[in-house]
Amino acid sequence: MLFSELGLGPDVLRAIEDKGYTQPTPIQEQAIPCVLQRRDVLGCAQTGTGKTASFTLPMISILASGRARARMPRSLILEPTRELAAQVSESFETYGKYHKLSMALLIGGETFTEQVKKLDRGVDVLIATPGRLIDLFERGNIMLNDIKVFVIDEADRMLDMGFIPDIERIVSKLPKSRQTLFFSATMPPEIRRLADAFLNEPVEISVAPPASPAETVTQALSLVHEMDKRRALRHLLQTEDVKNAFIFCNRKRDIAVLQKSLERHGFNVGALHGDMVQSKRTETLERFKQGEITLLVCSDVAARGIDVQGLSHVFNFDVPLTPDDYVHRIGRTGRAGKQGRAFMLATPDDTKLVGAITRLIKREIPMIAIDGLETAEFGEEDGTSRGRGRGRGGRSARSETRPPRGDREERAPREESAPREERAAREERPVREERPVREERPMREERAAREERPVREERQPRESLAAAESRRSNEPRRGGDRDRRRRRDEDDDDVAVIGFGDHMPAFMLRSARPRPSSQTEPSQEG
Ligand code: AMP
Repeated sequence: MLFSELGLGPDVLRAIEDKGYTQPTPIQEQAIPCVLQRRDVLGCAQTGTGKTASFTLPMISILASGRARARMPRSLILEPTRELAAQVSESFETYGKYHKLSMALLIGGETFTEQVKKLDRGVDVLIATPGRLIDLFERGNIMLNDIKVFVIDEADRMLDMGFIPDIERIVSKLPKSRQTLFFSATMPPEIRRLADAFLNEPVEISVAPPASPAETVTQALSLVHEMDKRRALRHLLQTEDVKNAFIFCNRKRDIAVLQKSLERHGFNVGALHGDMVQSKRTETLERFKQGEITLLVCSDVAARGIDVQGLSHVFNFDVPLTPDDYVHRIGRTGRAGKQGRAFMLATPDDTKLVGAITRLIKREIPMIAIDGLETAEFGEEDGTSRGRGRGRGGRSARSETRPPRGDREERAPREESAPREERAAREERPVREERPVREERPMREERAAREERPVREERQPRESLAAAESRRSNEPRRGGDRDRRRRRDEDDDDVAVIGFGDHMPAFMLRSARPRPSSQTEPSQEG
């Protein structure tokens, strides 16, 4: 099918041609005609499928006629992170270059003044993160009753980040007669419930099974001891043909340690996480995209949707704490038909997390050995390490399924949903990292400091992935079916801790002793 058959206007088609797209992707082929017919759309699609253009292109055609009034935007797109919001605004600029649509990007971490000025002039397209939008709404800078097209992007990510109450509030301010486009990479029941509430007889489009990793990504896993992880990473960086790479860590504090360590070893490396000031986040990402920085040590703020053309590698320095995040992280590479490579470093304590990933992606990840390093062994079914005394041994994998609350990337949205004055005061200031609830790897920083001595690394001939895979397949497999079954059964017992965001269930807020009624109802305003 051709773009010209989808019903888009000639100026949009010209911009698509300039961009060099020859054919619509499946989500574009299915969604664009429905959006142009002004139908609601429920799209189950991951980033990397061309999802952004599937709503921006028809929106430009729809909004081409008509004019925005001051403070009354004509369309609204909600994104979970500032980076994604900025990326969508770039798409509007690219595809809307032959139109005179006005656009405003409302994201946290930037001053209000410019954003308010733009709103005052009237905007056709408003792209926002939920917290900042609510702020401006409460200040009276914006009215939402002229919204004709409303887009919720990455709904499942919004759920993870505790944004759903904010979104419900925003939707309650929108006119009933609007067009709603709702996109999510996965459709858990909570997301389905929201979709049912927000959409009116939507066309349902699903372009890829949820959480299926791109076929274009070659994956590998290396099981090492905790103290060997940085050496293992350096070895991979030196032996792989790395053009540019994201290196994912689970904790923000580990990002700084790893970045410094890599810098000392001569790598060209930057860092990206949610506690950095927005100007620095934007600048770092831009420098990475421009090739001025080759490696980016990052948190999951970079895992979803961030589109860096031709990213050659993803390294999971830490095994992600939820299997979905693995899929999103490795999906940064192997995009737009290009080949990518994704490596993960696991320790014996990560046994359960790795098991959860392989169950989700329905395949084993080929194991590779790192030259010069002892390969560790997977832990016991109860989650304890049997890493020959060199791992973090004895720590329960169960206790590791979530990081300490204060250290999770989810701090970013909490920042956005904090009271208005507090948030305004914090503009351009990094969020102070809270003390982790649980004591976190007490020896780790110490070990890290010790390890900063440049380790003499003997370069050894590199083992290719294929060779490693074939060697592994000839080795006896660790743990038989029975072991795996036991591990799975045990996982079924594992109850994850759920963050309630601003929706704290009433029973948790109720005091054991009756209190005066004025104290029993805390504000929803986080
Ligand atoms: P998205 O899923 O929106 O993040 O898009 C992923 C990548 O695919 C982006 O780099 C887009 O520029 C690119 N892309 C989107 N539509 C097309 C298309 N029809 N042909 C080729 N590349 C595309």
